Amino acid sequence: MKILVDVDGVVADFVTAYLREVEAVTGHRYAPEDVKEWHIGQALGLTREQIDGADWSMSRGGWCSDLEPYTGAVEAVTELACSHDVWFCTMSLERSNTWDHDRRVWLLRHFPDMVTDAGCPRVIFTPDKRHQMADIMIDDNARFCKDWASEHWSETALLLDRPWNQGPHESEGVMRVRDWSEVLEAVESIEACG
Ligand SMILES: [Mg+2]
Repeated sequence: MKILVDVDGVVADFVTAYLREVEAVTGHRYAPEDVKEWHIGQALGLTREQIDGADWSMSRGGWCSDLEPYTGAVEAVTELACSHDVWFCTMSLERSNTWDHDRRVWLLRHFPDMVTDAGCPRVIFTPDKRHQMADIMIDDNARFCKDWASEHWSETALLLDRPWNQGPHESEGVMRVRDWSEVLEAVESIEACG
């Protein structure tokens, strides 16, 4: 099966790193559990200037190549890639000149075997995931999951449980999974159903 795996919030802990930039701008230390909606600045009630300050820091060269992977994510995705056609599917950061390069560096570091014949990381950069065909997509954004599932009605979007996607987001074609072991179970059961 072809499987699309989001990067930020799914395999890479973007939020913890972004909250360090928020602390530098606001002087307040927040935890990932404080982020109750997908847009971090709005979730924390930051001002436009504070959001711009944190965003500016995030766009500097090398920022996204320092993110920590989530516990269990590297092992689980590597396992999936042994028996499935797995591609990372992520958005570029338009205001950064180095984001895509830094992301490739990060993916090669943590997933050295997940490369094309040319040795490139198996990553698709897209502004709109709805147009990407696959049997399964894994994401932490409830709306992306819903929109993708409505375009690909016979396929399944796995919504990886995070503090920012709580609420009644289950809909046709979207399945919430609590952690990476549930991802592996869900993929197995979807494959068994054909
Ligand atoms: Mg994400």
